[in-house]
Amino acid sequence: MTPETTAAALTLPPFKNDRIFPGLDDPTVRKAFPKAIADVRTKLGKTYPLHINGQDVTTDKVLDSVNPADPDEVVGTICQAGIPEAEQALTAAEKAMLTWRDVEPAERAQYLVKAAALARENLFEYAAWQVLEEGKQWAQAYNDVTEGIDFLEYYAREMIRLGTRRDMGSYTDESNFYFYQPKGVAVVISPWNFPFAIGCGMCAAAIVTGNPVVFKPSSQASVVGHQLVQIFRQVGLPEGVFNYLPGPGSVIGDYLVDSPKVGVIAFTGSMEVGLRIIERAGRTGQDQPSVKKIVCEMGGKNGIILDEEFDEDAAVKDVLYSAFGYQGQKCSACSRLIVVDKVYDHFVPKLVEAAKQLKIGPAEDPQNYMGPVIDQNAQRTISQYINLAQTEGKILYRSETPDKGYYVPLTIAEGFTPESRLAQEEVFGPVLAIMRARDFDQALEWANSTRFALTGAIFSKNQDHLDTAVRQFRVGNLYLNRASVGALVKVQPFGGFKMSGVGTKAGGPDYLLHFMYPRAVTQ
Ligand code: NAP
Repeated sequence: MTPETTAAALTLPPFKNDRIFPGLDDPTVRKAFPKAIADVRTKLGKTYPLHINGQDVTTDKVLDSVNPADPDEVVGTICQAGIPEAEQALTAAEKAMLTWRDVEPAERAQYLVKAAALARENLFEYAAWQVLEEGKQWAQAYNDVTEGIDFLEYYAREMIRLGTRRDMGSYTDESNFYFYQPKGVAVVISPWNFPFAIGCGMCAAAIVTGNPVVFKPSSQASVVGHQLVQIFRQVGLPEGVFNYLPGPGSVIGDYLVDSPKVGVIAFTGSMEVGLRIIERAGRTGQDQPSVKKIVCEMGGKNGIILDEEFDEDAAVKDVLYSAFGYQGQKCSACSRLIVVDKVYDHFVPKLVEAAKQLKIGPAEDPQNYMGPVIDQNAQRTISQYINLAQTEGKILYRSETPDKGYYVPLTIAEGFTPESRLAQEEVFGPVLAIMRARDFDQALEWANSTRFALTGAIFSKNQDHLDTAVRQFRVGNLYLNRASVGALVKVQPFGGFKMSGVGTKAGGPDYLLHFMYPRAVTQ
């Protein structure tokens, strides 16, 4: 083994982000999206098996995944894993570990590059499934798939970088080198709101670093989640390296998290589930060979500050997009708008007027700015928050909604202070709470006044205030004079701290390190 060998076999061109959505007027988009949606409609209603140790596994228990804009339309029926299937998948991954961990990093990276090419080939089709299963608008769905492609391409290159053994120099007549080994079986648990990108990113990171994966997609996004089975099967990943295990988190979640077979858990989802995972995974039983590592990205309560002077047109557009893009169902969505008193009475009515122009309806119609929320539970919870907004503050605008489908009104309300529940709790829907701050200092204090620290933005022409925000607006991703959503892999590593996460930054230069142990050798 010479220090140079490990990852040198594969050279790739430098990483470049895949193209973000070219726009609704783009001729290719205009033609390809309706066709892809129509094609996908001919494939609805199939049954999706689990995928364990390279084999399809069916179960008696199944779950229908429906179109949130029309719950009568069944997008697909998904077999549901129980404890026996969870154990099978963990056993398969554990067995695959014995060989996968020693596959050259460059070879592992090759699988990701091939997977990216396949996803790129199927971009419109994959996005169309999201339009129907998750109620994502064309642009949102397209960018979700390209983000997944970016994760595959970026982590492939990162593994080649990290997989090359590092010469640590010598001391007397001893030479030293440093390299990484995988942590063990990885359980990957993903949310529904970025149904391809987030699951794909976490699985790609685990696989390329040498950890076989048991992937539990969200129950509301398991049809899109199955796209990873198609991709990883087609690129020829060895049996057991990628196992697809849809099933209710309430049934198999704890079992996966508690298993002594597991070395690393990559989770993205709510604070409640994330904290539960962290707590349970921290218990080490006698039969557990190593301490589990938790890669955990959780919720947000993101604020945008509007200072005394800023570009108003840009702010209107970007605040609406941050708050109501994909119905506010993004961890990065703006749910608190903190406006300084001096501009409040001028700006807020302008924002509300602009919001009144936004159309609401099925995401498959590109005229609609906002679509349905994910399911009936979300509809119920968000509606409760809208009622609360009425008692804690004052509703400035509540839109009409279509009769059929899981819609909630686009809602803008004011009159909140940091003590309000609307200023503290993640709503995860199209509800914007506006707060009137005395001045910039109070706006900044309020922006930092939640348990979360995920994203934030400030619109200001005051350079001192922007500089202060860089230091003191304490969030994982801060945006100056732009929307608080839409982070790109590599150039904007994403993730927060406090109750928003453990600071692992998906799509960043340190991410893969969470899946590996460093080792040093001296000779
Ligand atoms: P969730 O309810 O926490 O579910 C996330 C995943 O955890 C799902 O696959 C779920 O399975 C599973 N799960 C449920 N109970 C579990 C348990 N006891 N043990 C293990 N896994 C369990 O979140 P969500 O509604 O899907 O997604 C929305 C949340 O994700 C929001 O809070 C949002 O802010 C956050 N999010 C954060 C980021 C970020 O990067 N920080 C990105 C996207 C979303 P079931 O579906 O079967 O219940």
